[in-house]
Amino acid sequence: MMATAQRHVPQLKRDFAALRKDFPALQQLVHGKPLAYLDNAASSQSPVAVLDAMAEQQRRNHSNVHRGVHQLSERSTAAFEGAREKVRRFINASSVAEVVFTRGTTESINLVAASFGQGLKSGDEVLITALEHHSNIVPWQLLCERSGARLVVAPILDDGSLDLAAFDALLGARTKIVAVAHVSNALGTVNPVADLIDKAHRVGAVVLVDGAQAVPHTRVDVQALDCDFYAFSGHKMFGPTGTGVLYGKRALLEAMPPYQGGGDMILTVSFERSTYNALPYKFEAGTPNITGVVGLGAAVDYLEGIDFASVAAHEHALLERASQRVLREVEGARLIGTAPNKASVLSFVVDGIHAHDLGTIVDSEGVAIRTGHHCAMPVMERFGVAATARASFAFYNNDDDVDRLIVGLLKAVEIFRG
Ligand code: PMP
Repeated sequence: MMATAQRHVPQLKRDFAALRKDFPALQQLVHGKPLAYLDNAASSQSPVAVLDAMAEQQRRNHSNVHRGVHQLSERSTAAFEGAREKVRRFINASSVAEVVFTRGTTESINLVAASFGQGLKSGDEVLITALEHHSNIVPWQLLCERSGARLVVAPILDDGSLDLAAFDALLGARTKIVAVAHVSNALGTVNPVADLIDKAHRVGAVVLVDGAQAVPHTRVDVQALDCDFYAFSGHKMFGPTGTGVLYGKRALLEAMPPYQGGGDMILTVSFERSTYNALPYKFEAGTPNITGVVGLGAAVDYLEGIDFASVAAHEHALLERASQRVLREVEGARLIGTAPNKASVLSFVVDGIHAHDLGTIVDSEGVAIRTGHHCAMPVMERFGVAATARASFAFYNNDDDVDRLIVGLLKAVEIFRG
């Protein structure tokens, strides 16, 4: 009897201790202690697969993309456009035409504000929320100054979740754009974006989702969300800095004017007028970050091999463990951001000890956390603090990292309170 051919279905990885070994940066000592890297919301580390892909691109294929007829340029183009297809599949965009490469979330949002924003006029409104990162505030402020539109801010509740009743009340016929974070970097709050998108569409507004903090932790399906734009950064999803993505619905991108002018975004140029390239190139002026994008593609491949349901459970367990231990063991500690639906961000303050001092002392124990306003000054103001200390987790973190954070914090308390 002939054996039936078995289709090979790759097993998704969920052994986080094994995955941690893929990250060279996590194997080092800092101040003579093993590194506990808890600053993933600012930037996450890259696995060997990403580093190797970039080194290979730079070592063997380095050349410009799209216009070359020689081998190296063809290889670079294949690697660059291959990464675009990987990103398309990763976020389930319907076409690569909808995947624009940018420098990061910030540039993606600025692109939409500058280009789509040209359609706004006095009397129109841009609705954001009070938990946004500066990069999802300032581009809209600039747009409002230029256009005469009004920036409207939906407030947040004391636990850091969005005030949904207020959001509903502020949304109306004047609202042309809703720009909202999927996950807050300062508080960890996960916004009910599918719901917000649905509501915004009912009043005819387009929605941009700032997904910088969501993509590393959860699978995003832009078609299921039905968002109009989705922005994210490579360096927060285990890829390199200087890379990012703007997803946009094709019909919207087609209708939008170019963002920057230059090479690659044109079809023809004369001194009288120029015509523009097809999507997505219309929005990619100049030589792109080819090696970075190749690295981003490798990061997507890496993430595709991991079981995201297990990632969420693992990170949630770390967040719970850290939250409870900080509250129980660090005298005078208070959490900032306690929304029921939270991603792996633990923001806190400790009575009488400045966040920067906490950060410096835990660093001396080899523990990397972030301190400051986290580019979300309005959030700090809302909670009446100048700064918080923030530990943020990725799938490669473990219980030992949490325990080491507590050791560092207790040392700070010891130093400051004697
Ligand atoms: N939005 C959020 C929620 C973020 O956390 C960040 C980065 N901290 C950004 C936007 C900006 O990302 P980038 O600096 O990579 O452009």
